[in-house]
Amino acid sequence: MRENPIIDLIKQYNRAFVTDTVREVVADLRKELLTKSAEDESREQLTARIISRAVNLATIHSRGTLRQVINATGVVLHTNLGRAPLGDKAIAYINDVAGVYNNLEMNLEEGERGSRYQHVEALLCRTTGAEAALIVNNNAAAVLLGLNTLAKGRQVIVSRGQLIEIGGSFRIPDIMKLSGAELIEVGTTNKTHPADIKAAINENTGLLFMAHTSNFKIVGFTEEVALIDLVNIGGEYEIPIMQDLGSGVLLDLSKYGMSEEPTVQSCVKAGADVITFSGDKLLGGPQAGIIVGKKKYIEAMKKNQLLRALRVDKITIAALEGTLIEYLAGNPEHKVPVLNMLTKSEAELNKEAQLLMNRLKSKIANNPLVESISKGKTYDVVGGGAYPTYNMEGVAVEIRFRDHVLEQVTRNMRLQRPAIITRKQENALIISMRTLNRDNHQPIVNGLLEALEDINQK
Ligand SMILES: *Cc1c(COP(=O)(O)O)cnc(C)c1O
Repeated sequence: MRENPIIDLIKQYNRAFVTDTVREVVADLRKELLTKSAEDESREQLTARIISRAVNLATIHSRGTLRQVINATGVVLHTNLGRAPLGDKAIAYINDVAGVYNNLEMNLEEGERGSRYQHVEALLCRTTGAEAALIVNNNAAAVLLGLNTLAKGRQVIVSRGQLIEIGGSFRIPDIMKLSGAELIEVGTTNKTHPADIKAAINENTGLLFMAHTSNFKIVGFTEEVALIDLVNIGGEYEIPIMQDLGSGVLLDLSKYGMSEEPTVQSCVKAGADVITFSGDKLLGGPQAGIIVGKKKYIEAMKKNQLLRALRVDKITIAALEGTLIEYLAGNPEHKVPVLNMLTKSEAELNKEAQLLMNRLKSKIANNPLVESISKGKTYDVVGGGAYPTYNMEGVAVEIRFRDHVLEQVTRNMRLQRPAIITRKQENALIISMRTLNRDNHQPIVNGLLEALEDINQK
């Protein structure tokens, strides 16, 4: 056979993959020919179409589907967009161990088997002030492991105001059931008093549980039992306290005008026995569930068989070490991307917006589909279920289009590589500067140009 691109494909990929791809194309084409009145297409023409489609499809399939997204939404912790982007050190730490053997489970001092959990523990204790620490796959796993270890077959008391749902699949009552613990609801939706908790305690109470209501706020006539009161009750009846903090912020963000979130350190200090939080929310690290607290409870969790099913990989451990080191080094606002984005000043955002706007104006202002390009204030969001009612003032570049093409432009940009995700607001395309860096500017300009060209050609 002369130059056959299919033979080239087989050289590049494996045969089964190529035959599957060609079969898929042929099946599609058959369907197409059945519905269309068959135009006279020669055998050669059809073959050429099959080959060119197969080459395209093989290229698409062989790339995988996970790709870079430029986040122009201003939502810092966007669960759909992979939550926290990692900092340089976390990535460097991953690079150091990912492609080589490492001491994941080896005690180099003794030359014996070690534990993967020894690695970040000291760092977590140093940064949070806790006695002991453990990490698992995510915070949902941390809560599950905590409940299962400390309260399986026993009762767990929770205020009705804290029976939360996070992102659909994490609900306190469901995870409680899964853990084998029995949920005892006390108080009411808006008010729970220390006396309600005390009244529910009996000899079968295993745990007092507190969940941070991270993604909503009840306002008005409300009262919750403070951690310190819960700790006092726990002390009096000798029952441990477990707190699901959700986001788990280590840096006091109050000097940046954000104050409603308690830090992990303050909860440790207040005496919570076990605290769980996510690695990829406000901490700014990899997906992980971090558990810190009193040694005897953490040790019990390390002995739980369930831990084997929830364990983390070397890549997670490396990324978490690389993130936590930045807190010890004392400049996390600049080195941890999530914190950097949250603490950007208005002047900085304005400057970036001006730069991007100038570039956009010089490239697309004359496009017949573009009505205006301007810079304005917007509101950004922390996301990831943290600071639900806090609107951060942000700065955005706003673009208005003619001929109702906004929808087409945003779709086109979404399907590019890298994908560009923007926000729509009152018929304008909003590019919020907070979640962008300077390297994103050129791809955004190119992406918009490409989208407008595609639309113009239609
Ligand atoms: C986000 C969150 C969770 C779930 O954490 P994952 O790391 O996504 O598993 C659980 N509880 C609270 C309070 C949260 O905010």
